Amino acid sequence: MQFNTALGFFICALSLLCLQLDLQILSRLLSVIVLALGIATLSQYVFETTLGIDQLFMDHTIMTKTSHPGRMAPNTALCFSLCSLALLIGGLKRSLMISLCGAALILGAMALLGYIFKAEGVYGWGNLTRMAVHTAFGFVILTSGSIAYALSVKKNRRFDFWRLAPFSIATTVFILTLLSWYAVKEETQARNEAYFKDLTQETSDAILDRYALYEESLRGGLGLHYASIEVSRSEWKAYVNALNIEQTLPGINGLGYIDYTLAKNLEEYIESARADEAPDFQNHPQTLYPDKFIIKYIEPEEMNKEAIGLDIGFEPNRRAAAERARDLGVAALTKKILLVQDHEKKAGFLLLIPTYKTKNTPQTIEERREHFQGWVYAPFIGPKFLEQLSKVSREQLNFAVYDGETIVPETLIYKNAAIDMQGPYSIQTKIKIAGRTWTLQYSSSEDFQPPAKENTATLILLIGSIFSILLYATLWRLLHSKELIADQVEKRTAQLAESEQRFRATMEGSAVGMALVAPDGRWLKINNAMSDILGYSEEELKSLDFQSITYNCDLEADLDFVQKVLYGDLKTYQIEKRYIRKDGSIIWGLLSVALVREADGSPKHFISQIQDITTQKEAAEKILKANEELERSNLELERFAYIASHDLQEPLRKIGGFTDRLKAHLEGQLDDKALTYMNFVTDGAERMRELIQGLLAYSRIRYDKGESEKLDANEIVARAIDNLSETIAENEAKIQYDNLPTVSYSKVMMTQLFQNLISNAIKYRSKKNPEIIISAHKVSDFWEFSVADNGMGIEEQNLDRIFEMFQRLHRKEEIPGAGIGLSLCQKIVESYGGEIWVKSEHGKGSVFTFSVPI
Ligand code: ADP
Repeated sequence: MQFNTALGFFICALSLLCLQLDLQILSRLLSVIVLALGIATLSQYVFETTLGIDQLFMDHTIMTKTSHPGRMAPNTALCFSLCSLALLIGGLKRSLMISLCGAALILGAMALLGYIFKAEGVYGWGNLTRMAVHTAFGFVILTSGSIAYALSVKKNRRFDFWRLAPFSIATTVFILTLLSWYAVKEETQARNEAYFKDLTQETSDAILDRYALYEESLRGGLGLHYASIEVSRSEWKAYVNALNIEQTLPGINGLGYIDYTLAKNLEEYIESARADEAPDFQNHPQTLYPDKFIIKYIEPEEMNKEAIGLDIGFEPNRRAAAERARDLGVAALTKKILLVQDHEKKAGFLLLIPTYKTKNTPQTIEERREHFQGWVYAPFIGPKFLEQLSKVSREQLNFAVYDGETIVPETLIYKNAAIDMQGPYSIQTKIKIAGRTWTLQYSSSEDFQPPAKENTATLILLIGSIFSILLYATLWRLLHSKELIADQVEKRTAQLAESEQRFRATMEGSAVGMALVAPDGRWLKINNAMSDILGYSEEELKSLDFQSITYNCDLEADLDFVQKVLYGDLKTYQIEKRYIRKDGSIIWGLLSVALVREADGSPKHFISQIQDITTQKEAAEKILKANEELERSNLELERFAYIASHDLQEPLRKIGGFTDRLKAHLEGQLDDKALTYMNFVTDGAERMRELIQGLLAYSRIRYDKGESEKLDANEIVARAIDNLSETIAENEAKIQYDNLPTVSYSKVMMTQLFQNLISNAIKYRSKKNPEIIISAHKVSDFWEFSVADNGMGIEEQNLDRIFEMFQRLHRKEEIPGAGIGLSLCQKIVESYGGEIWVKSEHGKGSVFTFSVPI
């Protein structure tokens, strides 16, 4: 177990302990540390970087299957991230804590099983550090403990394991994403590496091919030497010209021949060389070696001038290669040298193939030395040789070629770019060329085009992560909305139950009869009050419908309303109807009905309320009857009064008339007393007549309201004034009226009304001359006419009395009158639906006002 892993366990355990002890803040603080550790480690793996945390506390000691020194395994880091996140939110969200720990538990248990069943792929991801067996065990313990804690937090509520679904599914998807990301990354790497290797192989092959070509052409020259005893300069020239080396052998400087001669024969040799069309032939440099390796000719001559006559044995590298070629009878390549003809001082080489006097290469070294003749050779410049090998590899690869096995600047032959050799892919290979080893160093260039896109894996990781998050959010939302709906349903059901209970209680306790009635009229449920009203028990009523106990005459109207409510024309209705009680008696009920519908709109039941109004109904009927009776008796009375007053007039007239005649007849025979008595009779008769006439007028009003016609109230008042002209003149009364409206009433009645009021206003005058003002106002639907005077006024306590019949405030001797005038006025006004009243201040005047409907 790495040190960081152990530390992680320690802090996690502490955090869990703090959570249990309700030290929430400390617990969170600790889990944040582990979370940071886990995420940092994971990102080191993902981004292939080093954050310096792996050996922060302790240098690495474990080297077994460890991809990075001191670093915990990627699955360990993931488990720590999950566990610490669980602990971080553990105090808040129980289900999430269980989900997170569940995921870590699965990873840990899987690793443990991997160890048990020897499936390395389960606990070790790729070539990365493996999760140690006791780490796996540790996670099983830690996560089980955390889950147990989460489950114990709210024991009273059953835990719904569906709550784990969003996180579990999303985590599974995320782990699958991680695995795919890793697999694709490995695959990409492998494919690209293979491609890179192919490219390097291609380059190595091209070098070997080019070399083979050089050797081939040298062997052609060799053939020429074997074919003739002596190859002349011009023959060689012809041969090389024919080869067209600039085209066919890229990078080669020329093809030449090196003679082997002993130092003692040098003079002789130079002479023979000069004889072969080279009069200026010189040997250089001078050496002390007993044998000379002299370049006799080389073509094209122009560019290799300096080489002609050179004793290549002067320098150990060249000498060694030449001797090796001679002794082994093979092509030999020098080490990196500087060619005398190359002024640019680039890495140069000589490739030498020995020729012998025998036709075939002799078998032994001794024989070869003995029969040795010289070398066909080719100088070439390394960079030229290695340039332009293959277009594809040249662009996509950086490569450097070193002479020998070591990579040091001194042995560098060629580098295809100045840039550093550090690409994402690099490799080193060696090739053998003519007995020498060249080391090739390859690295992918900036233009390296890997066949597999490296960002595919990153894309998978990105999309997978986003998908996991979205999946989690969607599932969480789904689950949550399910819970929300369930909560709502629960709440609504409770509300419904409560309201039903309330309704039931209301129904039971109500003094009003209440019932639920089916749409077809059957009684479904009734309360006690209902059972009292109708005289049936609930059980008895349930076997009946409302139609069967409705009084026949009221059924039709009720059914009519029922239909209207059922078809939605009405929401509720209220009617008075009669029911037949169980004992056969009939009662009046005030029925209020409302319809309750099902959710789909179909009728469920009626809620009916019945109030027993039998008593009110009977009382109202009694009142009605009494009123009718009163009306009738009033009419009779009035008729009687009319007839009486009408019929009384005649005998009264007779009394008056005959008293007068008796007075005339007994003229002079009567003493004063008798005369006084006689006058009493006449007065009484006269007064009686007045009373009777008043009565007659009063009782006539009901029968004889007269024809209604359009009347200008101004004209009516004028008529009344005209009738009263004598009195007005006597009292010097002033009467004002103006702009009175037009009304539709009987002319006679209206005239009488105004006449009475005006005459009273004059009759009950004060010492001042009477001043009377008549006016009219519109008050809502009525005209209010007022007759105001400046007369004696009326004492407050008498204001009501004066409208009663025969009620007077003065004795007849003071002011004459019968006490009928105002009651007549009242009767006229009331017969039109109006009212009359008076306002007065004693001693200052009175205002009589009456209203009549417009
Ligand atoms: P009569 O005038 O025949 O007495 P009324 O019915 O017309 O009968 O009047 C009843 C009483 O009302 C009168 O006796 C009088 O006392 C009082 N009264 C009527 N009109 C006036 C008025 N304009 N001013 C003061 N008192 C009045």
